[in-house]
Amino acid sequence: MNSQEVITILQDLIQIDTSNPPGNEGKAARYLGELFEKEGIAHELVGEKGRENIVATLGEGEKSLLYVSHTDVVPVSEEAWKVPPFSGEMKEGYIWGRGALDCKDLVAAEAYALICIKREKLPLRGRLIFAAVADEEKGGSVGSKLMTERYKDMIRADFAINEGAGEYIDVNGKKLYLLQTGEKGPCWSRLKAHGVSGHGAIPTLADNAVVKMARAVKNLGEYEPKIWLIPEVKQLMETYLQLKGEKIAVTPENVDKIIDRIPDRYFAEGLRATTRMTVSPNMMCGGKKVNIVPDYCEGEVDIRTLPGQDLEYVKREVEPLIGECEFEAVHYHPANFSSAGTEYYNLIEKTVKEVLGDVSCAPYTLSGATDSYYLRGIGIESYGVSLLSKEFPTEVLKTVHSSDERIDIKSMEVKTEFLYQLARKYLS
Ligand SMILES: [Zn+2]
Repeated sequence: MNSQEVITILQDLIQIDTSNPPGNEGKAARYLGELFEKEGIAHELVGEKGRENIVATLGEGEKSLLYVSHTDVVPVSEEAWKVPPFSGEMKEGYIWGRGALDCKDLVAAEAYALICIKREKLPLRGRLIFAAVADEEKGGSVGSKLMTERYKDMIRADFAINEGAGEYIDVNGKKLYLLQTGEKGPCWSRLKAHGVSGHGAIPTLADNAVVKMARAVKNLGEYEPKIWLIPEVKQLMETYLQLKGEKIAVTPENVDKIIDRIPDRYFAEGLRATTRMTVSPNMMCGGKKVNIVPDYCEGEVDIRTLPGQDLEYVKREVEPLIGECEFEAVHYHPANFSSAGTEYYNLIEKTVKEVLGDVSCAPYTLSGATDSYYLRGIGIESYGVSLLSKEFPTEVLKTVHSSDERIDIKSMEVKTEFLYQLARKYLS
């Protein structure tokens, strides 16, 4: 294994602009295809023209392990960056550029792990499958959704490694690495307010739709959701407290007090978001002119649910807050989980510890969503593992979907080593 090689792959991938929209992920798929071609690794491009997904396979047999990642990235605002965002420049020990952490780092590490195993001519007793898919950042309709609907047989595996694990946590000088076993369910919703238009100088003759929407938005913003403590989150919080030397049972009554005391605010607020349904009214659009009372206003709300909170639950909670506004769930899927009690989870944890040394691991529930939803939907146990080096400053994680996104060289080595070791352990 040569870390310069995996870094070059990452730099090359960053230089291919796959901002979604429009995506252009086919360029990244073709780049990876050429890489695999040189190494004699079987691969295929499938999906929408120009936005292809790439699947490569090594070995044959009963067992199967899927390495999945996405090739698209979110758009950039160029001005805010210290380096050109599609340069892949190496500076201050980091590789800089859009996608360096989300998630071309994983694309590169998974591809390179495959290449290393192929070069070693290691006899495999199963299939190692690589899938780099399009469109994760816009819902996956030409990426994971398409793959799990139309090309299931190409990617079906016992378990998968994907993105989506967040950071490691510093507790009493020890590092707690998070392994993602579940995700909340997004419920992106639209609100519509109707009124009667009129002259802005005599507003009492009209009925103002923007005012109705504003009331609804205010109520949604002030909504205090019920604490919803699922076993996975309770276990993570108790593991964290134990590492701190505190033996406390986490209950709905003390959960917020415990979260308030956590110094790592990124971790703390992530936990808060996974102990309740969240409701965030993020868009509002209405009115045409300063002297016309508007008869229509539209709003969009990002709602995220936990297990046991279905669409009916969402409606029951939201409808009393929105007055006359109409509510419509535009994109909804339920929260989804893989078990932390499987041999796969245990193998992942064991391998993480071997690669990183003296660290702890715990199952983690993500407040956001990844392609793991689609994989879990076709029965693939899916685990989010975003291994970063122990030296990686976790505040740099804020650069995901933001400016100056970057990853350190050591993290690229750690990721590749983990993926290489995991495949060897499971398949050879
Ligand atoms: Zn991502």
